[in-house]
Amino acid sequence: MKVLVVGGGGREHALVWKIADSPLVEQVFCAPGNAGIAELAECVDIGQTDVLQLRRFARQNGVDLTVVGPEAPLVRGIVDAFQSSGLRVFGPNQQAARIEGSKVFAKQLMQRHSIPTAAFRTFTSADRAKAYLEMVGAPIVVKADGLAAGKAAIVCDTLGEAHEAVDRIMVRKEFGPAGAQVVIESCLEGEEASMIAFTDGRTIAIMPSSQDHKPALDGDRGPNTGGMGACSPAPLITDELAARIEREVLVQAVHAMNREDKPYRGVLYAGIMVTSDGPQVLEYNCRMGDPETQPLLMRLKSDLVPVLLAVLDGDLENADIQWDERPTCCVVMASGGYPTDYETGYPIEGLQDAAEMEDVYVFHAGTELDDGRTVTAGGRVLGVTARGESIPAARQRAYAAVEKIHFQDAHYRTDIGQKAVARLQ
Ligand code: AMP
Repeated sequence: MKVLVVGGGGREHALVWKIADSPLVEQVFCAPGNAGIAELAECVDIGQTDVLQLRRFARQNGVDLTVVGPEAPLVRGIVDAFQSSGLRVFGPNQQAARIEGSKVFAKQLMQRHSIPTAAFRTFTSADRAKAYLEMVGAPIVVKADGLAAGKAAIVCDTLGEAHEAVDRIMVRKEFGPAGAQVVIESCLEGEEASMIAFTDGRTIAIMPSSQDHKPALDGDRGPNTGGMGACSPAPLITDELAARIEREVLVQAVHAMNREDKPYRGVLYAGIMVTSDGPQVLEYNCRMGDPETQPLLMRLKSDLVPVLLAVLDGDLENADIQWDERPTCCVVMASGGYPTDYETGYPIEGLQDAAEMEDVYVFHAGTELDDGRTVTAGGRVLGVTARGESIPAARQRAYAAVEKIHFQDAHYRTDIGQKAVARLQ
């Protein structure tokens, strides 16, 4: 079959890598892709949210299955558009993707269905939001309702910061229409982890736990980013906790969506804060995480394509999904200055040396080819991912590979996986 993957980041490189490995697949396209993806797939110069062009491409090229990596095309309704043309596409439809597309919708859904999450209020007026802030005080979290590339949640230690967050979102409209409403929610304390599942709307197949590292700097300092690295498993998530999250957070959400006439099919991601009161949902995402996908798919022993097809066929209960016991760890190498201002176009050296290491795969994110050379082209540049017999071993190997790669102003955290290692001791 011919498969089209939509997106061009590290997550999509990992998806393309697994899909290209399937004996069922004869050709992989990726729109728009990146320099690493171009080694495995034919990259197509169409933007990830250009739904009509993507559909035309899929039709004209006999694409049998389209797999959507990022949230933006899902929230825009790419699945509905493809399905209306009789094309097979993996991901939730527009109604179901609201679980990520609108934080107000997601929080109210959780409230209606008793899913554990931080107490909250929603506001359409900046004045009312600020009056509420005065009542509840800080610390507090202010979130824009819509999609804002992971920057929509602002954790505020002081009331001043919270007022500023409301101004940024609602008055200065820094996130555009995503800021027409805000969610203000209480600040949770604990450690975060990600639990991700395939679902066909009836059956849920949870993946192993994983843990992202969102802040830019070591020790979880600095501004939040798209994610600076991830490990799987997250030892914080014991088997007992995983079972509880599956039941209370994932199964419950899929049931809730069914009951509300928005049947959910695809991948459902729960960002969890493990607090002293148990697991609480920080957010749902309607797709796989980036960078969690890189370490997770490196652990997936089974062919991914039959799993995706089983989700589409409503037959997930019969899918065979085997995971490698060995942990994996992904260290993101970013452009200096990310997540704010950074330069691109710098040549990347040492990719071949790293690729030759055993149990290492270098997933590309913001890279492109310039005259045959691989150069930086985005904030997050590479996701250097390694497998080991233990989390410390996987970590060590990932960092050994990172040491071999160089580009100007490269920045990476040196403590990815350290929280996980600390839990093992
Ligand atoms: P979200 O996009 O809602 O997942 O939020 C992004 C990040 O903000 C999360 O990964 C947390 O680190 C932080 N965050 C969000 N909501 C809360 C909360 N209620 N309490 C503490 N931290 C939060």
